[in-house]
Amino acid sequence: MKSERQHREDIVRFGRMLHQRGYVAATDGNLSVRLDHETVLSTPTGMSKGMLEPEDLVVVDMTGKRVTGRRQVSSEIGMHLLIYSLRPDTHGIVHAHPPTATGYAAAGLPLNQALVSEIVLSLGCIPLARYATPGTPELVAALEPLVPVYDAILMANHGVVTCGEDLTRAYMKMETVEHFAQITLVTHLLGRQQLLTQDEVSQLIDARERYGLSGPAKGTAACPVTAGAALPPSRESAPAVSFASAKGGEAPKPQDGSGKITVTREELAAIVEDALRQTGKRRW
Ligand SMILES: [Zn+2]
Repeated sequence: MKSERQHREDIVRFGRMLHQRGYVAATDGNLSVRLDHETVLSTPTGMSKGMLEPEDLVVVDMTGKRVTGRRQVSSEIGMHLLIYSLRPDTHGIVHAHPPTATGYAAAGLPLNQALVSEIVLSLGCIPLARYATPGTPELVAALEPLVPVYDAILMANHGVVTCGEDLTRAYMKMETVEHFAQITLVTHLLGRQQLLTQDEVSQLIDARERYGLSGPAKGTAACPVTAGAALPPSRESAPAVSFASAKGGEAPKPQDGSGKITVTREELAAIVEDALRQTGKRRW
């Protein structure tokens, strides 16, 4: 079992990684670890997660009151305490604003499509919690129904929260969410999505134990969305990514009236390359 000192060093390390990867800007985000039944170690308010020292962290009780530490408690501590109270299996939480996943959250789109087997296996589905002002009881209430079922949640017009058996796993899930958001974005750029079937998703969920994965993270009947399933309203209202905007020129036209278009490998590569440049994200 890790000492409090080791947990402090973990929070500092993962905070720096969030900052280095561009998942937080300025003083965004927060991380915490459950120390025992009564206390949580958390990042303070108003500090860059890239510049924390172990001594900057604060220990709070389960009502959010500071027990030790010289800095102020984060205004988002209520979100962390809700998750710890509803999820006894959770010992680490990460909240950040990774740009692609937060873009989906700002577009009102959950990352709920069965597009990648590893995501179904690890997270099941990533739902979208309704918008509420950060740091308020309304935000906590918006998350409440989702926390028992999901390990990673998009928060509308805000960001992402992930939880895990320890801080390392909570952090890894944050990376997974952002990576999946980038992959999903590419499917939009390509104008095509090939969803897994319900049968294929069920097999993946059944395989979770074989891979040593525990916890809920299984999704629900409607999440993830599988091939042949009706799309939820938020997807239907989503504006399609147009080839013209990606290429900065003439969009390829359907050539036989069927709605299908044909592009060469070079044209497709140029479209994706250009669109990725526009997103300002070249990490994948
Ligand atoms: Zn936030």
